[in-house]
Amino acid sequence: MMPSCKNIAEHSSDYLDRNLPWWKHPGYWLHFAICVNCRRYVKQLKLTIGTIGKSPDATIPSISTEEIQAIVEKMKQSTKNKDC
Ligand SMILES: [Zn+2]
Repeated sequence: MMPSCKNIAEHSSDYLDRNLPWWKHPGYWLHFAICVNCRRYVKQLKLTIGTIGKSPDATIPSISTEEIQAIVEKMKQSTKNKDC
């Protein structure tokens, strides 16, 4: 059975997370083959998930509080130097 657009929309995150049972995949592929809207929707969702999924590693660098404080101190000092 081929899923409907509604089914695709409801389970697209599961599809992308590979939480869907394998036997459901051919139906999805078939639907994507004929439905440009769902293809576009899932592509967009994939990009969004991809961005969110990558962001924790990208935005939270392995930096300690001490290092941040050191950077802040350096920044303070550089602004002081400018005043001199
Ligand atoms: Zn569709």
